[in-house]
Amino acid sequence: MITSDDFKCTFCGKCCIELTVKISDEDIKRIKKAGHKRKDFAVKDMFDLRTGKYALKKQENEWCVFLRKEGEKYLCSIHEHRPETCRKYPFFDDTPLKSCLPEDVLHWPAYWRKNK
Ligand code: SF4
Ligand code: SF4
Repeated sequence: MITSDDFKCTFCGKCCIELTVKISDEDIKRIKKAGHKRKDFAVKDMFDLRTGKYALKKQENEWCVFLRKEGEKYLCSIHEHRPETCRKYPFFDDTPLKSCLPEDVLHWPAYWRKNK
């Protein structure tokens, strides 16, 4: 089992490709301060239209709009300004994980129910 103390990201990029990241008003403000226009990185959250909240845009290949590849590594081009969810992933609480790949991060939906 992996815990937050022994977790090491392998930069495989799976989380930034397979997940849609919901973003808060604070996330949007922070990313705008870094010089990005909201229309270039945010879309209405299609999974939760009732709240009028936003999610990060995807590129045509399903990558997060901020994901880049350098050599074999997938990197976040706004690392310093990334959304809160990306900072916490894959540990939204201290529960050990089998792996950090999206299909194993079972408390992802629960995290968002709590933080709406
Ligand atoms: S899925 Fe896990 S190992 Fe792969 S880039 Fe995301 S956090 Fe890192
Ligand atoms: S903002 Fe960065 S860390 Fe978050 S999903 Fe996009 S590329 Fe990945």
